[in-house]
Amino acid sequence: MSDLKSLLDNNRAWAEGIRAQDAEFFQTLARQQSPTYLWIGCSDSRMPATQLVGLAPGELFVHRNVANVVAHTDFNCLSVMQFAVDVLKVSHIIVCGHYGCGGVQAAMLNLKLGLIDNWLRHVQDVMRSHAALLSPIEDEAQRLNKLCELNVTEQVLSVARTTIVQSAWERGQELSVHGWIYRLDDGLLHDLSLSIANPEELSAAYAAVTKVTARGGASDGSFESAAEPTVR
Ligand SMILES: [Zn+2]
Repeated sequence: MSDLKSLLDNNRAWAEGIRAQDAEFFQTLARQQSPTYLWIGCSDSRMPATQLVGLAPGELFVHRNVANVVAHTDFNCLSVMQFAVDVLKVSHIIVCGHYGCGGVQAAMLNLKLGLIDNWLRHVQDVMRSHAALLSPIEDEAQRLNKLCELNVTEQVLSVARTTIVQSAWERGQELSVHGWIYRLDDGLLHDLSLSIANPEELSAAYAAVTKVTARGGASDGSFESAAEPTVR
């Protein structure tokens, strides 16, 4: 119980600190939120979205799940996305994974962890799609980190294919989808050089990913290896 009390004490100290800088902060925020960004990230406790990008409460709309998966049958994620795009009118959707992701690792090693194994089938689908690229990587940690990158790429494509994003583009709404990856051991985000702002860019992204996957081996730098994977 004392552990929980410390959390409540922390909260009071945090709120007081913010009020000391801006007495009206919470009253203003309580009336309205108008975030510019939707963040879709991993539930990992080491990835506190708003903190990582130095934003304040009210500036980042967030959805997180294990291994930052965007499944077209997941009404939780889709509802967050639809509200963010249609109602809040965010301009950017950022899918952010991280190297050394435990969820991606469990999928890669086909671990038996229970119910979550079903969820991680989505990541195993990514692994199968990119087998030609992944199989030659002998080092397990390197292979895991490549799969973490590929998982972000595939989830970005999933976001861009939703009726939510497609409809936004059709009506001329400015909206782009981005793929980033986070390195736990230095706290830095890396842009995977994948940004999609219209159907043409989605088609081009698909073609590039398919080309890299079909060829296997070293990539030409597009969408992957924006940063050397960290071996953990
Ligand atoms: Zn993770």
